[in-house]
Amino acid sequence: MTAPAVPSTLDLIGNTPLVLLKGPSEAAGCEIWGKCEFANPGASVKDRAALWIVRDAEMRGVLKPGGTIVEGTAGNTGIGLALVGNALGYKTIIVMPETQSREKMDTLRALGAELVLVPAAPFSNPGHFVHTSRRLAEETDGAIWANQFDNIANRKAHIESTAPELWEQMGQRIDGFTCAAGTGGTIAGVGLGLKAFDPEVTIALTDPHGAALYNYYAHGELKAEGTSVAEGIGQGRITANLEGAPIDTQFRISDEEGLEWVSRLLREEGLCLGLSSGINVAGAVALGRQLGSGKRVATILCDTGFRYLSSLWNAEWLRSKGLPVFPWLA
Ligand code: PMP
Repeated sequence: MTAPAVPSTLDLIGNTPLVLLKGPSEAAGCEIWGKCEFANPGASVKDRAALWIVRDAEMRGVLKPGGTIVEGTAGNTGIGLALVGNALGYKTIIVMPETQSREKMDTLRALGAELVLVPAAPFSNPGHFVHTSRRLAEETDGAIWANQFDNIANRKAHIESTAPELWEQMGQRIDGFTCAAGTGGTIAGVGLGLKAFDPEVTIALTDPHGAALYNYYAHGELKAEGTSVAEGIGQGRITANLEGAPIDTQFRISDEEGLEWVSRLLREEGLCLGLSSGINVAGAVALGRQLGSGKRVATILCDTGFRYLSSLWNAEWLRSKGLPVFPWLA
């Protein structure tokens, strides 16, 4: 099949390929498919949310020509907003915790975004990157605050694009879908979108350690346990995007399990992915095992592993976090 010829960079967002994951399918005893979100122009799933948020702000008349987009982000949404902003003539100011990968910071600077780094802090702290970004937006003339956590234009991107793409790519037969939540836009949007096609699709949340959603969906209590070094996922509250998300079941996945899949997918299938993708794949294997043979499960391959060369693919960094070092890096 020939890829389409499109009139603008923005038309490169979405319509990502879907790949059958061999190792995970064998481990689960059913088909596990990965949606290649690293194939977006900003190399992550967040390009979709960025485009929908900007288009929504234009439609509401709050983002005017030459305006500024301000956002707090673990990085990928900032990269998406910066490239959408560049394509449409908007400036971007991105507030990011200084704990995120060097590669994301370098990419944002290269794209021309104004980068504001803040110390990592709990959400209750006024210095948290989300609150800092809101204040900056209020103080900047002609600026909007993208507010990806509570702006449901984010999940709308997945209701209107990711879910219908998956449905068609999988021949209108999906038994299960799972992914982790950062803002929750992907899990809620794909979940709502797929349930509209077929209410029988099982939607599972895959939660990393250190996040509170597993306990919320399992026991009704927002309670976090453990920690994770995965970037972009792990939520401690019910964001507006998560409200009403149709979660049927949930899994908790450790960094070690996620790294095992990141390592296997690289060595056995040539896919270089970030840790949230590995955690998603581990969740998809767990869901596939639960659903049984003959079933078809999809998950999200959120971003490219090239974004983490100085961390996930660096022996010293892995050792400093007490994580196993991939044998070929040791
Ligand atoms: N993986 C990565 C690498 C991300 O940057 C994000 C976005 N925060 C996610 C997963 C989670 O996506 P969402 O915000 O839609 O829950």
